[in-house]
Amino acid sequence: MIVMKFGGTSIEDIPSIERIVGIIKSRLEQQPVVINSAMGKTTRKLLDIARLSADGMDEKALLRLNEIREYHFDMARGLMPDFEKSETRTTLERYFEELQRLLGGLSVLRELTPRSQDRILSYGELVATTIIASTLQNRGINARWLDAREFIITDERFTRARPIDELTFRGIQEKVLPLVESGHVPVTQGFIGSTRSGDTTTLGFEGSDFTAALAGAALDVSKIEIWKDVNGIMTADPCIFAGARTAKNVSFEEASELTFFGAKVLHPCTIEPACRKDIPVNIYNSRQPDAGGTTITAHANKETNIVKSIAYGMPVCIMNIVSDSQVDPAAFLRSVFDILEREGIIPCVVTTAGVGIAMAVSASEDMEHAIDELTRFGTVNIAREKATISLVGENIRTTRDFAPVVFQNLEDVNVYMVSQGASPISLTFVVDESDVSSVIARLHEAFFREPDPDMFD
Ligand code: ADP
Ligand code: ASP
Ligand code: MG
Repeated sequence: MIVMKFGGTSIEDIPSIERIVGIIKSRLEQQPVVINSAMGKTTRKLLDIARLSADGMDEKALLRLNEIREYHFDMARGLMPDFEKSETRTTLERYFEELQRLLGGLSVLRELTPRSQDRILSYGELVATTIIASTLQNRGINARWLDAREFIITDERFTRARPIDELTFRGIQEKVLPLVESGHVPVTQGFIGSTRSGDTTTLGFEGSDFTAALAGAALDVSKIEIWKDVNGIMTADPCIFAGARTAKNVSFEEASELTFFGAKVLHPCTIEPACRKDIPVNIYNSRQPDAGGTTITAHANKETNIVKSIAYGMPVCIMNIVSDSQVDPAAFLRSVFDILEREGIIPCVVTTAGVGIAMAVSASEDMEHAIDELTRFGTVNIAREKATISLVGENIRTTRDFAPVVFQNLEDVNVYMVSQGASPISLTFVVDESDVSSVIARLHEAFFREPDPDMFD
């Protein structure tokens, strides 16, 4: 049994859906469980529409909703000759009616709560999986649509819910496994779940990779395939550095570090369930299904290069808190970390000195309340428009003088914070946002001048 997850870019139009149908067909013998995101950019568009409705801009919201509706209906018509008279059409109509009603509710209340946001965003995945499951059936595949909210059971943290492992694993084993065993191809949604009391939740943006890993772990599959628009985990984000190469093999630890430090190629929670069950994760390009991709396993093959990949996190800000002199240093640190825990803020770089503490945190976090709280213990200064750059690779563990080589290449760059040692396989530092692409290009040139042909494509 395998899990196959297809992201938004792999199902954004008719040709891409035809491609993934072919890919699924080619793996029927391996008993696939299919997990889909919303199509193309639907999640972001639904969020924009929900915000418009909550701002009272009903007409604009409805126009936009209609565009999304047409986008999906056009696709369904193009994929299924009998769509107009099908049950699939009735189901899609019902979803869009429900969405319209929910948006109407938002414009009356003039409020978008995290709970209603999750409910609205879930339709992206519900609609997409309905179309994919019907298309597969239409092509003679014994597909069966499943509502992930029946088995991805989460806590109540709407917009960033965490699955409750025991309930979720049991749910997947009870609902998904029997279908596979009876020769079906289950098709279900990534990203969405439900609280124990039945409210729809989401696992946070990009959460469908995480769903795929959970399903893979619960079903003890032989591999988790994640299909994207890139050839795998690359030496840098190809959107920011055109010369990036594909790493053929990455360790769980390397992948986990890369995603923690911002590499958007996988949701940061994806690795843990796979690692726990020692299930390989393969990242493939749905546009080039025969390219080798990246295999993520417990131990990666040894390469000659020190660094495997360079990640960046942006936007980031530096919070510097200078302690009031009368506060005991240990109590000061405890208070700062208590506040971070309460606010759900996880700093990516932390440094301390006698007088205080500096932290680099993702600027997308809502920090105003945390800043107010922190000012009770000292003077808080915020430096904005910063970014983290992280070099990750198992070979860093055993390389002496690694940091000097990094900084030799950055002589004229302002480096605000440095972190090494928290993990033996990464080094992270903070620079100005405006320096990110040039720093990555210079480090790429320094560390991948001669990429090991056995490791990089
Ligand atoms: P999907 O919608 O299929 O989940 P995403 O867009 O979420 O796909 O993830 C793929 C994107 O991740 C790529 O388009 C790329 O810009 C970005 N990315 C960031 N870092 C890396 C990296 N090291 N290797 C590959 N892709 C990366
Ligand atoms: N559709 C969701 C999002 O855009 C989940 C995902 O694609 O992973 O974030
Ligand atoms: Mg994604």
